[in-house]
Amino acid sequence: MIELKDIHKSFHKNEVLKGINLKVNKGDVFVIIGPSGSGKSTLLRCINYLEKPDKGIIKLGDLTVDTEKVKKEQIAQLRKSTAMVFQQYCLFKNKTALENVMEALIVVKKKSKEQALKESIHYLEKVGLQDRLNYYPSQLSGGQQQRVGIARALAINPEVILFDEPTSALDPELVGEVLEVMKSVAKEGMTMIVVTHEMGFAKEVASRVLFMDGGVIVEEGSAREIFDNPKEERTKQFLYRVK
Ligand code: ADP
Ligand code: MG
Repeated sequence: MIELKDIHKSFHKNEVLKGINLKVNKGDVFVIIGPSGSGKSTLLRCINYLEKPDKGIIKLGDLTVDTEKVKKEQIAQLRKSTAMVFQQYCLFKNKTALENVMEALIVVKKKSKEQALKESIHYLEKVGLQDRLNYYPSQLSGGQQQRVGIARALAINPEVILFDEPTSALDPELVGEVLEVMKSVAKEGMTMIVVTHEMGFAKEVASRVLFMDGGVIVEEGSAREIFDNPKEERTKQFLYRVK
């Protein structure tokens, strides 16, 4: 469903991704953990071409992109088939919750206003915000804003949703509601790649957990294998620090 082969990315002389290989099946939830600066965000951003990889192959469904010979239409297709949920929500401040979701449907999916309205209400209901449709981001809590971000990602009906530390900007008491929504999305069979250090979430829903450090995947396994019985020294040290 998604396959990455030997993805490399440098910023000037700083090689941030040093050959990433990954295979994600439909409905899988991959959790990526790792220290700050290890390349987790860059990896997600390369998958949907917010960053252009220097080298490597990205396969998504029927689409195969050789990043050294990429075509414009392929980038457009990758962007259409992936959705990203950011740490900092990235909502339009001058648009309501409903308008934020509608915008994605109108711009990305070229839906009519009427259709976008109907679908947006449906997805905002799914994340439990049916009574906040006409609120602006400033009138919503961080947890509610992030749920709008998730509704927006769901609305474009992507092949995969990429989550980049979706709860790490939240006050602790708001983390739970966002994780609950993410769990329900996972349980409905959405393919997800999630950068997070929420081990409870990983233990409950992750198909695989990957530990990244220094631009490589150091270790990969089930949540139990990685959290309870890590093999690599670097993984052990990292987990010791975050626990
Ligand atoms: P993580 O998400 O694991 O904390 P990042 O992918 O954000 O790591 O960053 C990995 C490295 O790439 C860091 O050294 C960071 O400074 C560098 N980096 C990320 N984005 C850019 C950029 N746009 N320009 C230059 N360096 C960048
Ligand atoms: Mg990051």
